[in-house]
Amino acid sequence: MGLKILFVSAEVSPFYKTGGLADVAGSLPLTLKKMGHDIRVVMPEYKLIPAEYRKMLKHICHFRTILSWRNEYIGINTLEYKDMQYYFIDNKSFFYQDNIYESNAKHIQYALFCKAVLDMLPHIEFKPDVIHCNDWHTGPLCLYLKEIYNNEFYNGIKTVFTIHNLKYQGQFGTEIIEDVLGLNFYEHYYRGDIIHDGLVNYMKMGIIFSDIVTSVSKTYVEEIKTPYFGEGLDYALRMRGDKINGILNGLDYDEYNPAHDQDIYCTYCISNLEGKALNKQRLQEELNLQVNSEKPIIGLISRFYEQKGLDLIMAVIDEIMSLGLQFVVLGTGETKYENFFREYEWKYPDRLSTNIKYDHSLAKKIYAGSDLFLVPSRFEPCGLTQLISLRYGTIPIVRETGGLKDTIRSYNEFTGEGNGFSFTNYNAHDLLYTIKRALDIYQNKKVWEILLNRGMESDYSWNKSAREYLDLYSELVY
Ligand code: ADP
Repeated sequence: MGLKILFVSAEVSPFYKTGGLADVAGSLPLTLKKMGHDIRVVMPEYKLIPAEYRKMLKHICHFRTILSWRNEYIGINTLEYKDMQYYFIDNKSFFYQDNIYESNAKHIQYALFCKAVLDMLPHIEFKPDVIHCNDWHTGPLCLYLKEIYNNEFYNGIKTVFTIHNLKYQGQFGTEIIEDVLGLNFYEHYYRGDIIHDGLVNYMKMGIIFSDIVTSVSKTYVEEIKTPYFGEGLDYALRMRGDKINGILNGLDYDEYNPAHDQDIYCTYCISNLEGKALNKQRLQEELNLQVNSEKPIIGLISRFYEQKGLDLIMAVIDEIMSLGLQFVVLGTGETKYENFFREYEWKYPDRLSTNIKYDHSLAKKIYAGSDLFLVPSRFEPCGLTQLISLRYGTIPIVRETGGLKDTIRSYNEFTGEGNGFSFTNYNAHDLLYTIKRALDIYQNKKVWEILLNRGMESDYSWNKSAREYLDLYSELVY
């Protein structure tokens, strides 16, 4: 018998995306649905959802959600898209804003979202077997379900909580325990189950109150149980012990498919790689780089934050640029990184192209047109960019951490094994050495073709990982 699952996420591709979470929320449920389960997805109805989707929304019901002394209107709008039922939680005061993640009211937004999702269920007459929560935005849902929603309708519903990035925890002053969460201050403050470092911590709620905790690669699961990677919550994770499951993210193989991709300059596949060469040429033209098929292009698509290892690039940029390559950068984030790449584009105008923006279509063109792709992260829970690169025949250079370690095996010239290049220590010269090594191998067209084919043939689709999630859901339900 099929399972009933509600997938809850603060962002879902293609409606709203800032990172990998949206990719996962946009693709894992589709795979589970194809496997015969009744899965539905819910997210807040943000102002930034593109008009093309917004105008297709259908209003199905509205009610009021109580959040401490607040009594808020909640509208439930729905959309059937690609055979999936999406629900959007509408509340103009809290979700209809330009920079949703910059808001000062995040503590209210996501507590309200969590409660509204639970309140919605009887209205839409859907009692899921499992609610799959994702990241700190959904931590309060796990708590509410266990502590407050214990009437007949909700009894028996289980929760899975997936950590996509432990760095972002949703930490707020303790005054919100009563004023926002509507919980008894003394009970929760002294029990310590929602407090970390003297602050209310939404991520910790998910870790403590869910039935099963997962994260997005086996290596990251082990890493975050240690103080170095644990972001202060390693003790809470260790308390859950072996029960934390590492399930690698998959990729939406329909969305990222060079054989059909309408965003790239021309489509190609493993048996016809001429298209890849043409993508490279057109990318060079569009970004005003010297058009030269012999010059290796290294791509970098990233949020510009410390996590992503950009400091390593900053430390050896002149050495990297002296290697006779072209470097294409796309990303946004911290000003110091944006300005750094702008400055070096000015220094190396025909070799370094800096694109400070969020541009899905250009991202695809870079995956398709580059030869190598750089992911030097300080830590990386799973990482999707290295998987997308492989799919487009672009060889990743990664640091061995989290999901990067679990998906990329460094090329071994003696055995011929491997699907990319990697280095262990967070060290700029190790990065530089690895780029040099990759460029040496790039000169050997025979070996390069093998690596490129191997990447394109590998299977990082959702099929295997979705089955692992299903096993977990079943473990909870049956
Ligand atoms: P994270 O979730 O930490 O940002 P992931 O590697 O899991 O990292 O996912 C990043 C996703 O966001 C990929 O799909 C990547 O292509 C996309 N992305 C990141 N920055 C940009 C950008 N500036 N423009 C377009 N897509 C981007």
